[in-house]
Amino acid sequence: MAYVIEIQDICMHFGGVRAVDGISAQVNPSEIFGIIGPNGSGKSTLINVLTGVYRPTRGKVMFLGQDITGMKPHKIAGQGIARTFQNLRLFHAMTVLENVMIGQHTRLKAGGWQAVLGTRKFRESEREARERAEEVLKLVGLEKMSSEIAADMAYGQQKRLELARALVSEPKLCLLDEPAAGLNSKEAMAMMELIKKIRREKDITFILIEHNMEAMMSTADRIMVMDAGKKIAEDIPEVIKNDPKVVRVYLGE
Ligand code: ADP
Ligand code: MG
Repeated sequence: MAYVIEIQDICMHFGGVRAVDGISAQVNPSEIFGIIGPNGSGKSTLINVLTGVYRPTRGKVMFLGQDITGMKPHKIAGQGIARTFQNLRLFHAMTVLENVMIGQHTRLKAGGWQAVLGTRKFRESEREARERAEEVLKLVGLEKMSSEIAADMAYGQQKRLELARALVSEPKLCLLDEPAAGLNSKEAMAMMELIKKIRREKDITFILIEHNMEAMMSTADRIMVMDAGKKIAEDIPEVIKNDPKVVRVYLGE
């Protein structure tokens, strides 16, 4: 029960496609657990199973000792699992601050959002929500941009905004699907530094999918390598880097 999340023999099949094919893994508290693998190896599908987007064909997901397999996404979010998406899902016409405040929706609802609408308590909770959003924007370095329209920001800033939106719900576990995708190498390393800083300050556990190898190797505590839905290796970065199976999968891409 010491694990934050324990994945037990997860399979996710789409018709004949075995997108995830018998994955087991355990993630420790405050760990940054990396997942790499060629395109189509099942990384995003696994994240989608962990967050309730898909109900797995087989297997179990235990979160802090509780079985969350097959729970609806908002229930899982309410348990303390947040995520970002491989493709940005921001509200482009809204401000930066509004985008982050929306990230607290599940949390406010859990605290009785509907019941207190319009009351003093509601206004207080809205003020708190705003303060919390501003605090998270500061954490990701966007505090000066809170009234900008999301669509007007640079791509790298939008990626940080997406991270802020995931963090504002104060998750225990945060799943990041390619947070450095589309960033140049300097921006990518800054994103990785940011993730490490958040782990230090907020004591959040991360599962990190990342294509940028340099970024991954310098950030993850352990890395799981997937190929065709299966786990082909799992170890610390120094070992993964020199694993012939891993090298072969990447050269064969
Ligand atoms: P990765 O994130 O590692 O690139 P994905 O998890 O996106 O890989 O995809 C793994 C495999 O599952 C691919 O062959 C993909 O085409 C397939 N797949 C993913 N989602 C679906 C879906 N909703 N329906 C059918 N096939 C899917
Ligand atoms: Mg993917």
